[in-house]
Amino acid sequence: MQFKQPDPEDLSYFQNILNPGRVLSDDEARSRCASDQTEDLCFLPALVLQPESAEQVSLILKHCYEQNIAVTPRGAGTGLSGGALPVLGGIVLDMGRMNRILEIDTENFQVTTEPAVITQVLQEAVREKGLYYPPDPASKGSCFIGGNVAENSGGPKALKYGVVKDYVLNLEVVLPQGERIWTGANVLKNSTGYNLTQLIVGSEGTLAVVTKIVLRLIPHPTADLTMLVPFRRAEDACAAVNEIFLAGHTPSALEFMERDALVLTQAYTGSTLIPLPDDVAAHLLIEVDGHDPEQLMQDMEQIAERVAHFDIGEPLLAETKDEKERLWSLRRKVGEAVRAHSVKKEEDTVVPRAKLPALLRFVKDLGKKHGFESVCFGHVGDGNLHVNILRGNLSESFWNDELPLCIRELFEEVQRLGGTLSGEHGIGYVQRRYMDIVFNPAQLQLMRAIKDVFDPKGILNPGKIFPEASGNLP
Ligand SMILES: Cc1cc2nc3c(=O)[nH]c(=O)nc-3n(C[C@H](O)[C@H](O)[C@H](O)COP(=O)(O)OP(=O)(O)OC[C@H]3O[C@@H](n4cnc5c(N)ncnc54)[C@H](O)[C@@H]3O)c2cc1C
Repeated sequence: MQFKQPDPEDLSYFQNILNPGRVLSDDEARSRCASDQTEDLCFLPALVLQPESAEQVSLILKHCYEQNIAVTPRGAGTGLSGGALPVLGGIVLDMGRMNRILEIDTENFQVTTEPAVITQVLQEAVREKGLYYPPDPASKGSCFIGGNVAENSGGPKALKYGVVKDYVLNLEVVLPQGERIWTGANVLKNSTGYNLTQLIVGSEGTLAVVTKIVLRLIPHPTADLTMLVPFRRAEDACAAVNEIFLAGHTPSALEFMERDALVLTQAYTGSTLIPLPDDVAAHLLIEVDGHDPEQLMQDMEQIAERVAHFDIGEPLLAETKDEKERLWSLRRKVGEAVRAHSVKKEEDTVVPRAKLPALLRFVKDLGKKHGFESVCFGHVGDGNLHVNILRGNLSESFWNDELPLCIRELFEEVQRLGGTLSGEHGIGYVQRRYMDIVFNPAQLQLMRAIKDVFDPKGILNPGKIFPEASGNLP
């Protein structure tokens, strides 16, 4: 499909339907929407539109569908797979103005929100009513709830509480031809027809634009404890993960940080909180939560005993709220710190939990074999390891031509281990070339057919998810 770039007539149409100042064609606005947090990729859109209502989204999409103009929805632009990049130019639909929490229903434990509410703002708003919305990507201070729905995001708490899909009850969406629909009902159980809600969750802005979100909430836990355990062998830290579960515990978070992840993050933040003697190879950050502080202390003691047979250093139990927050703040800043150190390709590998030590070993051996460095961290309680391959001094040709073959090797191993390409960051633009590793032609054809039903002309977020090029993809 060849798309048209918006012309002066399209511009005046958009100026008529949007409020003043919401049709942007200046360099500053276009460059702001040209990148997200994926590597150093940059694709300029022709135009940025900032709708303020679902009606406006509908009018925009109807027009773009008729005129064959590509539309890329954009949340906060914190994505790590290039989902919000306008790879074929056209229009970026900047959802940032639709940022109101519409209702917190304390009787039914639900919140209805527009898509551009920052995840942490939503969490704090429901917290004030004693309620809890657990999914907490490490980017929760900047990413939007709509982006989280589009990516089916996770985060540390996914381990005990599940990911975004486990909380989405109902969505208002605008389809590529402009129709507005609700996908389901605001109920906790629903066996009524196909599950359109869950089809939209994780569809990365390729099927519809999300304009309202109804989420279920739960009571907020009243107590938690955090402990950091240093390991002298990184593989042991991965092996310890499964032992904790086998001992009968489900922590509320279980995060892995390789030594270099913490070295870079402490340097980036100026922190010296965590001692990093030469013989420490990795850490596990473990959190338990609930309502009974004594029980939580017992759980943590049992977890510490259970991992004590590995070669570990002295565990650090956060004594104060401040210490706990500083530990978590370091963990949340790892991705940012690694990116500040070097351009990187981030592979969001996920395997069955017991396969983590094998995965880590493979990553490091692959790096030695091909001459690249990686920094690994992630939500290992879910088997989700973020493998960050550093650009460093790698040549242009290695980075662009040879490294994708190494990454293919990595994902082939992930697939052999029973895992898949992405635990939470999505496929977007950068991972689509690996889809054939985990899906056969019949599976991919089914997905394409779904896309065709929603968007026969393919105007919505083209160039994403599917391995083949769409239009003149760069
Ligand atoms: C430092 C850092 C840490 C991170 N940690 C985590 C983590 O722990 N867990 C995790 O899961 N992710 C994490 N991420 C990734 C990222 O924050 C998430 O994918 C997040 O959900 C993206 O939200 P966003 O608003 O920035 O979306 P964007 O990046 O703007 O867009 C992401 C996708 O959603 C689509 N989209 C956005 N809004 C809409 C809408 N209203 N309707 C339809 N489609 C839409 C876009 O087209 C795109 O495909 C991290 C990122 C960074 C930079």
